[in-house]
Amino acid sequence: MIVVQAPYRVHGVEEVAPGLFVLSFDRNGLEFETGQYLSLGIPGHRKEREYSIYSSESDTHLAVLIKVVPEGAMSSKLVELKQGDLLHVSGPYGYFLLKPSLDAGVPLLWIATGSGVSPFHSFASTYPVSEYHLFHGTRTLNERVLVRNFPPKSVVSCVSGESGGDFHGRVTTYLSTWELDRSTHVFLCGNCDMIYDAFDLLQAKGVPAAQILTEVYY
Ligand SMILES: Cc1cc2nc3c(=O)[nH]c(=O)nc-3n(C[C@H](O)[C@H](O)[C@H](O)COP(=O)(O)OP(=O)(O)OC[C@H]3O[C@@H](n4cnc5c(N)ncnc54)[C@H](O)[C@@H]3O)c2cc1C
Repeated sequence: MIVVQAPYRVHGVEEVAPGLFVLSFDRNGLEFETGQYLSLGIPGHRKEREYSIYSSESDTHLAVLIKVVPEGAMSSKLVELKQGDLLHVSGPYGYFLLKPSLDAGVPLLWIATGSGVSPFHSFASTYPVSEYHLFHGTRTLNERVLVRNFPPKSVVSCVSGESGGDFHGRVTTYLSTWELDRSTHVFLCGNCDMIYDAFDLLQAKGVPAAQILTEVYY
C-alpha cells in the first residue's frame, strides 16, 4: 500500500446542495484506483476523517464529496477551508474497487445513500461504462443534484421524505421490487442500516456474498 503524507493545498470548496460540498485539492502525483478513499485532516487539528475519492483517476485535482454533520467534529471545518489552505492527506486506502468486476464483464448494480454516491461518481467519471444501474437513496428532493452527472437511464432516485423522485420510498424498498441477474456484482455505499438491509435482500435474491462489496460510512 502506498501511503502519502504531505501538505496539500485546497483548490476550492463548492456547495452542490444544502449541506453537501465538493472539496477539491492538489493531487501531488497521488495515484489511486477508483473506489478508494483518503484520510483528511487540517494542520493544527488532531482528528482525521475518511472520504471516498469523488474525482476520476485522470483528473488533475483530487476531490471529495462531504456531507456536513452539524454537530460533527471535522466535516464542518473541512468545508470552511479556503483556496490555498493546507490539508493533510493520507492514502489511498480501501478495496471498494470496480476494475475486477469490469474485467469480469458482469452486470453492475450500485446502491448509495446520500453522500455514498461519491465513489460511484468516480467510477462513472473514470470508466465510460453505461451498462450499470445506480439506485440513490435520499431523504429530500434537493439531494438528487448528486446524481445530475449520471445518465438518467441508469439512475433511480429514491426519495423517502418527499414525493417527486423516481421512486417515493427507501432505496431498499425499491431494491426489494427489482429483479436482478444472479451474476450481478453489487456495490453498496453509505449508512450501515441500508447496507445491512440491502445485503440481506440481495442474499435472498440469490446473489452470493462474494459478489457484494460494501463501503460503510457510519
Ligand atoms: C471509508 C469511509 C469513507 C467515507 N467517505 C465519506 C464521503 O465520501 N463523504 C462523507 O460525507 N462522509 C464520508 N465518510 C464519513 C466521514 O469519514 C465522517 O465520519 C463524517 O464526515 C463525519 O465527520 P465529523 O467529524 O463531522 O463527525 P463526527 O464528530 O465524527 O460524528 C460522527 C457522526 O456523524 C454521523 N455521520 C457520519 N458520516 C455521515 C454522513 N456521511 N452522513 C450523515 N451522517 C454522518 C454519524 O451519526 C456519526 O456517528 C466516510 C467514512 C468512512 C469510514
